[in-house]
Amino acid sequence: EQAVRLESLSKTYGSGQNAVTALTEVSLDFRAGSFTAIMGPSGSGKSTLLQCAAGLDRPTSGRVVIAETDLTGLSETALTLLRRDKIGFVFQAFNLLPSLTAEQNVALPLRLAGRKPGRTEVAAVLAEVGLGNRGRHRPAELSGGQQQRVAIARALVTKPAVLFADEPTGALDTSTSREVLALLRGLVDQHGQTIVMVTHDPVTAAKADRVVFLADGVLAGELVNPTAEAIAA
Ligand code: ADP
Ligand code: ADP
Repeated sequence: EQAVRLESLSKTYGSGQNAVTALTEVSLDFRAGSFTAIMGPSGSGKSTLLQCAAGLDRPTSGRVVIAETDLTGLSETALTLLRRDKIGFVFQAFNLLPSLTAEQNVALPLRLAGRKPGRTEVAAVLAEVGLGNRGRHRPAELSGGQQQRVAIARALVTKPAVLFADEPTGALDTSTSREVLALLRGLVDQHGQTIVMVTHDPVTAAKADRVVFLADGVLAGELVNPTAEAIAA
């Protein structure tokens, strides 16, 4: 079963003389319960791939299918609903709302979906990311690693079919990065969460089941059960 299918995805920004082709006919499947890292040099199309796959941007051509839904023909409204229900997204800079507590940040996607979040529901997800006792803290009162855990909890609270992460450890020091990666790895191993992560760091990518390499907007290779040494080579 595929959680996400990318079929011949192409993306060009701008037009005419200013046109920049970011992706050219990229086809990739992400199996349910798999953990994939996307690597490649700066400008190779990693962020564009993630944005298109997550329905945050539309490809110029090709198709994205998430949890059996083809995003191609969806209206903006339908796309927004699908993102809300099926997709979690984690950013390098956490992107928490500073005025809200950790609990309130995590509850936000449920509120946006028109649901009244249960306290135990929010508490359970915070506990799952190891922050059971930090729910009343605001982001400024938490370390970087704790803030990213809150962001991960917020992304998971709707039980998405896939969690996308763009350089999730890029703003964290080495030991905190390891903890956050262990958390992501645990979500895959213990809950069968599907994760697609962009990273430039071989040690980070080695935590994934598979590494996909982009170069100049095309697929340039793939490693299964990668080691950091093999990735760096
Ligand atoms: P990466 O994440 O691997 O650094 P990106 O997907 O950000 O690569 O960028 C791929 C290419 O698309 C680059 O040439 C970049 O300059 C270009 N690009 C990305 N976003 C935009 C945009 N919004 N407008 C124009 N060009 C863009
Ligand atoms: P652990 O044993 O790893 O601490 P549990 O299996 O007890 O975690 O689950 C904690 C809570 O997280 C439960 O309420 C469960 O429903 C919920 N949960 C399970 N899988 C996921 C998931 N993929 N994303 C978000 N929440 C999940």
